[in-house]
Amino acid sequence: MIDKRKLSESALDFVDEERLHALLARPADPGRVREAVAKAMRKEALDLEETASLLVADAPEMDDEVFDAARRIKRDVYGNRIVLFAPLYVGNQCTNDCRYCAFRRSNEAAVRRTLAPDELREQVEALENKGHKRIILVFGEHPRYSAEFISDCVREVYSVRAGSGEIRRVNINAAPLDHEGYGTIKAAGIGTYQIFQETYHHATYGLVHPGNTPKADYLWRLDGVARAMEAGCDDVGIGALFGLYDWRFEVLALVAHARHLARHYGVGPHTISFPRLQPASGVRLPERWLVADYDFKRLVAILRLAVPYTGLILTAREGPELRREVLALGVSQIDAGSRIELGGYTEAGDAQVLDREQFQLADVRPLDTVMRELLVDGYVPSFCTACYRLGRTGEQFMEFAIPGFIERFCTPNALSTLLEYLIDYAGPATRAAGEAAIERELLQLPEGKRKQALLEKLTRIRERGDRDLFV
Ligand code: SAM
Ligand code: SF4
Repeated sequence: MIDKRKLSESALDFVDEERLHALLARPADPGRVREAVAKAMRKEALDLEETASLLVADAPEMDDEVFDAARRIKRDVYGNRIVLFAPLYVGNQCTNDCRYCAFRRSNEAAVRRTLAPDELREQVEALENKGHKRIILVFGEHPRYSAEFISDCVREVYSVRAGSGEIRRVNINAAPLDHEGYGTIKAAGIGTYQIFQETYHHATYGLVHPGNTPKADYLWRLDGVARAMEAGCDDVGIGALFGLYDWRFEVLALVAHARHLARHYGVGPHTISFPRLQPASGVRLPERWLVADYDFKRLVAILRLAVPYTGLILTAREGPELRREVLALGVSQIDAGSRIELGGYTEAGDAQVLDREQFQLADVRPLDTVMRELLVDGYVPSFCTACYRLGRTGEQFMEFAIPGFIERFCTPNALSTLLEYLIDYAGPATRAAGEAAIERELLQLPEGKRKQALLEKLTRIRERGDRDLFV
């Protein structure tokens, strides 16, 4: 059946393991590292050789240069904004048997559930009442979770209004679809479609995805986001599950994937995710490839250098302290206040129940606490959803990813969505920190028409209760 499925025009197993391993076997060369850093600082994407030179560098002072460059690129390309979102698990039935995941079909301890439409609404209301505007719907792989089903969920989410709350962007993390399926989902108005390859290393892929399951088809999955792009979902997200194989190999393969998409579709992935393997119900995997915190920081910084214009997503799988450190190295989006049990936003207590979730989260602080920390640390948390709603996605977004874009669009939208949050949802301490941040940011904006327009918007939000004003 799998063989009859239609792949994309660009379908190709571009993961040339021999070449990637050969690049990673080269000796460290400080000269090459410096050249790669200099190129990245010019905001030029790195090729595989250049990325590999960063991955094989073995002197701590080289790492410091890479960390430093990553911090600067983040500041130049993304400013001090951090976009916030929350995951919403819709259903954990699954026909796959991924060795690392609590939802795998052989896990009899897993409590299986698919949210009914009214239960989904309840979860969305709870998220809106906390102040969320962007969510990602997560699904197991199951015939029940068809493109039509996913689209219905997306429409349902967009229709929920709790007070002045609303979800303005729904992203998806689900199984790879065919062209038609993506078309159906696109019509429901999704933001990004995410598919993680988990591991790009073929033998490991085979080990963790047993042969009698749909996910065992490596190329079908590898090609998944290319089909999405061909079907008009031009914002796609890729990722690898770090801890299954050598992290340096996975970083190179992620860069190869991004370059493959850019070559064929004129634009790379919108985001890259780099989840690290977490404890999960009944999961026992070899520890050989688990990624240490220091290497995790390196992998984020190297990705930041290799693909300067691709969003990097850091999730609540990581604990608060590490998240704080890694943020500065190039992350553009984080989730906050996340619960990943089915129904977790209304039903779960403070403790996580492993049999009810896919894996364990290390950062379960409420959204407001994370907001406050970000503000105190000098970031501007943003709920902006303007680009995709104005069609600034895919290739078009890349055209805008040039100097001036942030000042023109991102900062104003970040500040207006932040102010909405402060007024509608923030606790007193967060509100005070947020108001101070808005003052600080306004002082830095050049005088002129744009600043004037922003000031008017902020006044409308404060005084007239207007919402969702964006440029
Ligand atoms: N069923 C869909 C699929 O497999 O593509 C949706 C993905 S799953 C619900 C979201 C992601 O969580 C997976 O792609 C995987 O990378 C990650 N994941 C699975 N088990 C994990 C674990 N034990 N620790 C950390 N992340 C995990
Ligand atoms: Fe199913 Fe996805 Fe978990 Fe694999 S990772 S068992 S496909 S939910």
